[in-house]
Amino acid sequence: MQRYDVVIVGGGHAGGQAAIALRQGGYAGSIALLSAEPEAPYERPPLSKDYLAGDKTFDRLLLRAEAFWSEREIALLLERTVVAVDPEAHTVTLADGEALAYGKLVWAAGGTPRRLPCAGHDLQGVHTVRTRADVDRMIAELPDVERVVVIGGGYIGLEAAAVLTKLGKPVVLLEALDRVLARVAGEPLSRFYEAEHRAHGVDLRLGARVDCLEGEGGRVTGVRLAGGEVVAAQMVIVGIGIEPSVAPLLAAGAEGGNGVAVDGLCRTSLADVFAIGDCALHANRYADGAAIRLESVQNANDQASVAAAQIRGASPAPYDAVPWFWSNQYDLKLQTVGLSIGHDEAVVRGDPGARSFSVIYLRQGRVAALDCVNAVKDYVQGRKLVVDGARIAPADLADTAIPLKEMGALAL
Ligand code: FAD
Repeated sequence: MQRYDVVIVGGGHAGGQAAIALRQGGYAGSIALLSAEPEAPYERPPLSKDYLAGDKTFDRLLLRAEAFWSEREIALLLERTVVAVDPEAHTVTLADGEALAYGKLVWAAGGTPRRLPCAGHDLQGVHTVRTRADVDRMIAELPDVERVVVIGGGYIGLEAAAVLTKLGKPVVLLEALDRVLARVAGEPLSRFYEAEHRAHGVDLRLGARVDCLEGEGGRVTGVRLAGGEVVAAQMVIVGIGIEPSVAPLLAAGAEGGNGVAVDGLCRTSLADVFAIGDCALHANRYADGAAIRLESVQNANDQASVAAAQIRGASPAPYDAVPWFWSNQYDLKLQTVGLSIGHDEAVVRGDPGARSFSVIYLRQGRVAALDCVNAVKDYVQGRKLVVDGARIAPADLADTAIPLKEMGALAL
């Protein structure tokens, strides 16, 4: 049986970055990086942005040039899926039956898109946006598509709607709740993006419940809503979140549920097994210590660094990085810092009408997060307020005459 000092399961952002960080830190042991996908590690954010729009080719999405992995003696094992873990024997079993032994295991398997729980979810023409293959399939079908229905008003659904609108396709966006981005942002931001999408021609429907998808000859023809209306479409994009890919690890006895539970050093409850990225359930100080999974490049990269440092034998500080994220829709660049979960006040700074403003979230009087739309200065300067949990009067935060970097002096 082939043995590697480190086996990394998942060749996405987190897994790729863990391998990179190991070698950058001088780690000389053997490393295998396994991915279920056929591509070397690549960035997912452009999939619903420039790549779908045709503005970026796939080679520009790669985390590193193809040659990087072999030059660094990282065994890149593509289209290899781990189906079982034996924590006692320190082995993983692959779908083809082969087993590999590990010294340390890094679980970085991300997640898979949630499917609609209704009839028709598997018709042709129904898409999710997670992998290059997903988006290539969409691009191939687009010429025959007259109308698209996007189900889910989260970031991925909204970004896809923006791109498809730009490509000239009529888009109907269905959101089950009473506002878009309800899970991740406050009401002022939701209302702003709803207005933007409508202004660009998206038929945005809130409180829209899907009954089933209808089809003919195995191909989708429309979406039936709970009230009976059928919205005709030749393409349906489902963006309703992901399920963390953790089944083999949980079956091996790792603690967790909605993700694999890890401590501040990204260690699971199994000896020599780490978990990082979208699948890692961790206590986050920016969520008041609640156990959460973060689905962001920042989290994938920073957790990868913590796990890699330990494997190299360093003593890293526990994971404590400030969360950040971005989303591009039309000509709007949203940048967020901190986590708005559980906020009790949202202060609007600047004028949404001018399409450059920020929403500043407070939790018990302390700055918890900022959503900055075309407002880079606020994003850069507001970061420290989030890190410090600064107590600033809402009226001061709203005052655009005072730069956020000067707010520290006004702390209560
Ligand atoms: P992934 O990147 O999902 O990688 C996991 C890999 O593991 C996959 O290749 C998968 O095939 C493989 N795998 C799974 N199970 C197994 C197994 N059993 N054996 C072997 N391999 C396995 N984040 C931002 O910060 N900003 C953005 O603007 C943004 N936009 C996004 C847009 C889209 C369309 C998507 C899909 C995500 C976006 N994200 C964004 C989120 C970001 O891409 C993820 O948080 C990040 O990719 C997580 O990295 P990961 O390595 O944990 O998981």
